[in-house]
Amino acid sequence: MTQGTAQVLAGPPAAAALLDEARRRAARLPHPPHLALVRVGEDPASVSYVRGKAKKASEVGLSSHVHALPGDTTQADLLALIGTLNADPAVSGILVQLPLPAHLDPAPVLLAVNPAKDVDGLHPANTGALWNAHEGLRPCTPAGIMALLAHHGVPVRGARVVVVGRSALVGRPVAGLLLNADATVTVAHRATPDLGAVTRGADILIVAAGQAHLITPDMVRPGATVVDVGINRVPTEDGRGRLTGDVHPDVAQVAGALTPVPGGVGPMTVAQLLMNTVIAAERQHAQPEVTGELVR
Ligand code: ADP
Repeated sequence: MTQGTAQVLAGPPAAAALLDEARRRAARLPHPPHLALVRVGEDPASVSYVRGKAKKASEVGLSSHVHALPGDTTQADLLALIGTLNADPAVSGILVQLPLPAHLDPAPVLLAVNPAKDVDGLHPANTGALWNAHEGLRPCTPAGIMALLAHHGVPVRGARVVVVGRSALVGRPVAGLLLNADATVTVAHRATPDLGAVTRGADILIVAAGQAHLITPDMVRPGATVVDVGINRVPTEDGRGRLTGDVHPDVAQVAGALTPVPGGVGPMTVAQLLMNTVIAAERQHAQPEVTGELVR
């Protein structure tokens, strides 16, 4: 919890606004958008994430179905299911819950999803579109971060933004979205020397490094906006563990605004997934020929 002076950039109200918009736009379509949720095996975190996504989908008037495949599903069977969902005009969006069991290779699975239904925004056609500022589906956490900044009135245009982390899921795509929004973007990573010297240059600091409390107050420019994407479980005395971000809580004494963990970026991701499903359905409604096997 942040207890310092920084404004709290709360996720729930921004997520609620995004969900309201998704609900409104879904209601304007002739059929409720449909989200196909694919999961393989019984990894408890995946089971709970997929259940949460299905529940939120119904809350905004989307239909969804959980395709729960057994843990020993073959690559061919998984690809066959994706092919069926690609070809089904009633399916607006397809989400394959990661991680897959170790015997399955995620790359060909993500490649098999029709980019027009790729609501995770991870297909190379969509990541390429993002980097070229073309229309496409954007990855959920990065797009959710942009929506969070917009909701709280943080101006991005011209701002000096430092992104710490270059993962395919967060660092890279959020850097692309920021660039598309006319920010001045620097990407730092594991090999960056003197990270603090770089992060102190940021008006907006986005941290997605997966390292608990990597960012300490001395690394933050006074008054900066700090977005903490990290979700790290740290041990506690009672053995249950506690969630903490990549940003040290004392950064609240220096920053102008800071996202809490939990309750910051987290709620934006699922909201954006549902928004993406609505966007996919809208585009398929306008251009039905891209929903089948034609566009890959
Ligand atoms: P996520 O999925 O949260 O983005 P990953 O674990 O996939 O996180 O990636 C971690 C990213 O954070 C990598 O790009 C790595 O270079 C960066 N990173 C990790 N540790 C540090 C560090 N100490 N300093 C700067 N960058 C780091």
